[in-house]
Amino acid sequence: MPKEIFPSSFECDCGHQSDFFENTIREMRAMSQKKKVYLADSAPEEHTIVFYKGKMVEIQCPKQPPSRETKKSSPKSRPSKKRSTTRGIPDEVKTDIEAIVQHFNTTAIRNPQCVYVARYKGKFLYLDRQDYGRLHPICRLEYTGKMEDWSFAIYKYSDERYEEEWFFPGSEHADGTIKGAMKAGLEAYPS
Ligand SMILES: [Zn+2]
Repeated sequence: MPKEIFPSSFECDCGHQSDFFENTIREMRAMSQKKKVYLADSAPEEHTIVFYKGKMVEIQCPKQPPSRETKKSSPKSRPSKKRSTTRGIPDEVKTDIEAIVQHFNTTAIRNPQCVYVARYKGKFLYLDRQDYGRLHPICRLEYTGKMEDWSFAIYKYSDERYEEEWFFPGSEHADGTIKGAMKAGLEAYPS
């Protein structure tokens, strides 16, 4: 079982230790009351700490296969990485997305009251932002099979739809990455 080392470190079964700022851990615990939240360390062998209901519940280890719980959604076999992109975003990509979003929330926005939330529909990843309890659409990314090459569309409030060909303050950050999209969204719609 993974161990928690007071106040803000975690030890994986493989012996790897992830260290964070105490503030970060406090925020993660607070954010995890109603849903699972993911916090990735930035070590070369990246581990992701999973929090739920204020507690660390799992450490995702790059050296170990995913736990039974995370596999539940794909009962047949582990999904192949080469699965066709038209059928939607693979589960392992979603795991990466959650980690990227949480990382951006805790390191770039640094306000637990303003967080990006990922939502999925087919091959689309919607990034909404929860600002002081209210959820707003910000942008939509289309999965092309590569993590660095998403096609980007910003939500245009005046038209109430996602717009791909729209120049807005911050659009220069939309470089095909999820992080770039969140940066662009933050400039277009400051929290
Ligand atoms: Zn490990």
